[in-house]
Amino acid sequence: MSQVEILDTTLRDGAQGEGISFSLEDKLRIARRLDDLGIHYIEGGWPGSNPKDARFFERAGSLALRQATIVAFGSTRRADVSPAEDANLAALLAAGTPVVTLFGKSWQLHVERVLGTTLGENLRMIADSIRYLRAAGRRVIYDAEHFFDGFAANPDYAFETLRAALAAGAECLVLCDTNGGTLPSRLAAAVSRVRAAFPGVPLGIHAHNDGGLAVANTLAAVEAGVTHVQGTFNGYGERCGNADLCAVIPNLQLKMGLPVLAPEQLAALTEAAHFVSEVANLRPNPHAPYVGRSAFAHKGGVHVSAVLKAAESYQHIDPALVGNERRVLVSELSGKGNILHKAAELCPDLDTPTEQAREVLREVKELEARGYQFEGAEGSFELLLRRSQPGYQPPFELLDFLVLVEKRRGTGIIAEATVKARVGDEIIHTAAVGNGPVNALDRAIRKAILPFYPELDRVQLVDYKVRILDEEAATAAQTRVLIEASDGEHNWNTVGSSTNIIEASFHALVDSLELPLARANGNGRARLRAPTDPVPRAQSLPEPERAGSEPGARQP
Ligand SMILES: [Zn+2]
Repeated sequence: MSQVEILDTTLRDGAQGEGISFSLEDKLRIARRLDDLGIHYIEGGWPGSNPKDARFFERAGSLALRQATIVAFGSTRRADVSPAEDANLAALLAAGTPVVTLFGKSWQLHVERVLGTTLGENLRMIADSIRYLRAAGRRVIYDAEHFFDGFAANPDYAFETLRAALAAGAECLVLCDTNGGTLPSRLAAAVSRVRAAFPGVPLGIHAHNDGGLAVANTLAAVEAGVTHVQGTFNGYGERCGNADLCAVIPNLQLKMGLPVLAPEQLAALTEAAHFVSEVANLRPNPHAPYVGRSAFAHKGGVHVSAVLKAAESYQHIDPALVGNERRVLVSELSGKGNILHKAAELCPDLDTPTEQAREVLREVKELEARGYQFEGAEGSFELLLRRSQPGYQPPFELLDFLVLVEKRRGTGIIAEATVKARVGDEIIHTAAVGNGPVNALDRAIRKAILPFYPELDRVQLVDYKVRILDEEAATAAQTRVLIEASDGEHNWNTVGSSTNIIEASFHALVDSLELPLARANGNGRARLRAPTDPVPRAQSLPEPERAGSEPGARQP
């Protein structure tokens, strides 16, 4: 039994975050995942507020969860009706969950000016609703909405609402920082006052992040004696979000010594966080504490050489505890150590003596000064390493290219590219048309080299990103192009940079095709093949361009 229990409200409060819309299937998948992770309570939704949430509870029974309890959320009865006539309470009962989270008002301002009722009627609404749910056999967790604002404005009344909830049968009083504006010291002081007034009663915390303090407030509340913690995955939620359980849980467990999850479940936290963001269709925040991709990424040369000697020199925990990993980044801030570490990771088949590492580092710095960036383009960095090997023979060389773009009244854009390439001793000229200049160039390059390397047929471009580096310079700015390519099994990222978007794309395209060939040939000595098919079949278009838009459309 853990000393702190976690109630996840990603499916209810988290779903109220801007840009988040979970389908019913999404909610069921997330619930299953949270159960695997060992979360104690999963708040599935507000059945009285929308039909999708009501359907979730119909389906939740079939989830066969192993340890989590599904909880339905709802409000106290409306003013001046009996609980039995209240549609919201009826929906809560219909959800059929053994536990219900019921929220009520703690703040005089809210009772009088928002609900438009009296302080006395609000106390009856809390008590009647809880008693009604208890009589129907439900356990009740009471969420005291706006508790800290109510306590600051009128502490006696805020306490009276808690007393009403407790007397009616609530098993846990959850103090909510609904507006997210309370400071940790004030919040902890208020929790201590509640503890003194309600000795032995289980207390909870529900914190929002409007002051950037939701995690800090949650931990402060636990230090002040709270044992029930509410939050969401990745901190999703209204406005600035809720307390991020991906930071709360490891802090409780690894820093405060309060076991929450089994160690192997904690080690699945990073994957679960990314799973939830994937389902939410939001990009995971790379800088998220504990679970972000950059949470243990080291870039400065001094840092890298230090963590390679003693990991704890620049890491607050072992990333494996939360299922994350240390990453060493390569950039102009790097030292030789980064290059050597990265070389061993990316190309275990190569020897990279110190001299070569120094040479590659010099090249990285020079290219970064020209707008390249290798942190998001490890494929291009790997090629720098492979090309630095003595005797590297490029599998192909692109000598010249020409791109024409034509737009006439009444017609769409027509783009045509010609390229001149060398493979071994052969010079090849090809031409291709495309729906835009980059697409035409990609097709012409493939047409030239595919007869020699039919395995490139499997390589597809899966993403294409353009970034303008010096926005002040407008159309004369340096442009960086990042390409993600895939052979269906593995993906790799390459980069090109130029003041000309076509040239930047050209460099990134060439790298994306050269890398798989260089890998297949160890040190890069390309096997030359006789052309097997003088007229390669048309290449399928890379996904981003198939939609008919030119890369420019994706500029920031
Ligand atoms: Zn909330």
